[in-house]
Amino acid sequence: MENVSTPKHASFCEYLRLDQVIFNLKATDKIQALEELLDVLVKLNYIKNKKPVLTRIIDRERLVTTAIGHGIALPHARLDTGGDIAVVVGRSVAGLDFEAVDDKKVHVIILIVWNPSIPGLFNHLFAGLAQFLIKPGFRDRIFNARSKKELHKILCEIELTLLSSEDKIISRAGLLWKLQKIEMQKKKAAKAKKKELQKQANLIRDELDDALLERFDKLMERYGFAVAELEDGACQGCFINVATGMSSAIEGSDDIYVCENCGKYLVAIKKAK
Ligand SMILES: [Zn+2]
Repeated sequence: MENVSTPKHASFCEYLRLDQVIFNLKATDKIQALEELLDVLVKLNYIKNKKPVLTRIIDRERLVTTAIGHGIALPHARLDTGGDIAVVVGRSVAGLDFEAVDDKKVHVIILIVWNPSIPGLFNHLFAGLAQFLIKPGFRDRIFNARSKKELHKILCEIELTLLSSEDKIISRAGLLWKLQKIEMQKKKAAKAKKKELQKQANLIRDELDDALLERFDKLMERYGFAVAELEDGACQGCFINVATGMSSAIEGSDDIYVCENCGKYLVAIKKAK
C-alpha cells in the first residue's frame, strides 16, 4: 500500500542533519566504525540502546556485505527504535576493510536504521542513494570534500524519488541467491541449526518484495530450487540459452531476471572469492 503522506521527491538531508556526519572516523576496523556511527545516533536520541542495533547490523553484514563497491558501504538494520528512520554518515580517509564486492577499502559509510512498519521508505532511500552513488563524478566529489559542511552539502544533492515495488534495489540478486542457499541448508539441518538459519532467512526476507518471495517459495516447493545461474549464456536451471540481449544484461549486474523457458529466477554467476 502506498503511503499518501510520503512526498514525491525528498532531499536526502531531510534524514541527514549536519551533526549526523562524521568527517573523520577514528575507527580502524569495520566493527569500530559501526560503533562510532551508532554512538552518534545514541547521542542524538535516535536510538536508546546501541547493542541490539549493532548486533542486527553485523548479522546482516555477515550474510551479504553491504559494501557495494567503489569505496562505499550502506550497512543497515530494520528495527523498531521508536522513530521512522535514522541515518548517519562517516568518512574514513585511510579506508576500512568491509569485504566489499570489489575488494576495495570503504571510505564512506552510510548507515541506516529503519522502522519495520515502513518497509517502502527504505527501498526508496536505498534506490535513491544508488542512483547518485553509481555516478563516478558524484562519488569523487564526496571523497574529495574538504570539510564536514562541504560533505553534508554534497550529500544534500541526493534526491529521493518515490519508486514502485517493481523498481530494483541493490543486491537483490545476491540476496535472493543467498536466501536459496539458506533454505536448502535448512532442509538438512539439525533443530538448533535450523533456528539459526531461519533467523538469517528472515533477515533477507525483510528486504525483498512480497511478490518476489511468493514466487520464490512456489518455485522452491515445486523444484527444490528457485534461482538459477546464467553460465555461458545458458540458464543452469533448464540448460537452454537465453536471448543474447538478456544474457548480456544479466552478466555483471545484480538484478534479477526470469528465465523465459523454465520460469526460474536468473542471476549472474557468482565468482568464488
Ligand atoms: Zn531456465
